[in-house]
Amino acid sequence: MPFTTLASEIWPGGHLPTLTHSFIKLLHDKGVLLRNYTQNIDGLEVLAGVPEEKIIECHGNFRSACCCDCGKTADIEHVRKSIVEDVTPPYCKSCGGLTKPDIVFFGEDLPGYFHRNIRGDTRAADLLITIGTSLQVSHSEATHKEALRSRCRPLCSHTRTMFC
Ligand SMILES: [Zn+2]
Repeated sequence: MPFTTLASEIWPGGHLPTLTHSFIKLLHDKGVLLRNYTQNIDGLEVLAGVPEEKIIECHGNFRSACCCDCGKTADIEHVRKSIVEDVTPPYCKSCGGLTKPDIVFFGEDLPGYFHRNIRGDTRAADLLITIGTSLQVSHSEATHKEALRSRCRPLCSHTRTMFC
């Protein structure tokens, strides 16, 4: 499936935050949320009202874009319109290379903000709540192991819920 077809299907805007997202927002409102690490690229944590500085989107997001060739920031609205409305690849206005939302493709490294925060966060946290992951994705497993090396207590829910 071409990326533009897939991206147009999963582009955020068609879904609402769940009770789980509201729970994360509640943790923030109560002043006990250090950070929310998420594998999701749907931006629903932001939509739920969790401040962006409290969220580590391990696989990126659709709120910004850049050129795959020169790395320059691209206008996300231009990228969205090209992919979603025109169903054509968006090109960089500077170098003509392909642009894409700042999501992480398979095989790409995680964003720098993940690496800059993970160790400090797991050492500073008292409790790690893991929800909605099988821990099969390498960075979520690494996050969990990092937390286990610290004084942080893990709480891992493997139970399927109707809210996740
Ligand atoms: Zn470029």
